[in-house]
Amino acid sequence: MGPPGAGKGTQAIKVSARLGIPQISTGDILREAMKNGSELGKKARSFIDSGELVPDEVVTGIISNRINNEDAAGGFLLDGFPRTVEQADALNVMLDSSGLSIDHVINLEVPDDTVRERLLKRAEIENRSDDTKEVITKRLENYHQQTQPLVEYYKAKEKLLAIDGNGSLDEVNLRINSALGV
Ligand code: ADP
Repeated sequence: MGPPGAGKGTQAIKVSARLGIPQISTGDILREAMKNGSELGKKARSFIDSGELVPDEVVTGIISNRINNEDAAGGFLLDGFPRTVEQADALNVMLDSSGLSIDHVINLEVPDDTVRERLLKRAEIENRSDDTKEVITKRLENYHQQTQPLVEYYKAKEKLLAIDGNGSLDEVNLRINSALGV
């Protein structure tokens, strides 16, 4: 978990490679669907391009399918999901019904000013349709309103690993590995 621009995607790739488990990113799955012009992509585009979250039932459906794939049988790392309390509750139900549970929730802590700067820089390089000034502001607002409550939610469940997300990618990665003990 972490605000947009916290480095979730980059760190998720590194951690999943280290653990030998798939990284499952709702953002990547949705962007791929938009690129392919599938029904899912068409449904998601208006939300993503305006900085809103895609409806809970859409992303919950994606995850429920994806974690039942064979490659996820030995565990998986979720990136960008859950992002609302409703999604977290739905995830608990899904996992319970398969006899699974969450080991850890990694929260990358980065101040708003820093993520705003990073996202604007990324806008110049990657050309992501949701990395414009207005949409970044909206995504940050929605993060604080809808996703940040999950920090307390997982703290209460004693799952949360708070990681300082400032610094280089390698520095942050070392902090995550040491918090995970891997
Ligand atoms: P970032 O965290 O930098 O915004 P992501 O790739 O994780 O990037 O997400 C991009 C967009 O995809 C989000 O702004 C949102 O519209 C949509 N999205 C991704 N994951 C979810 C989710 N779990 N619930 C709702 N919308 C999501």
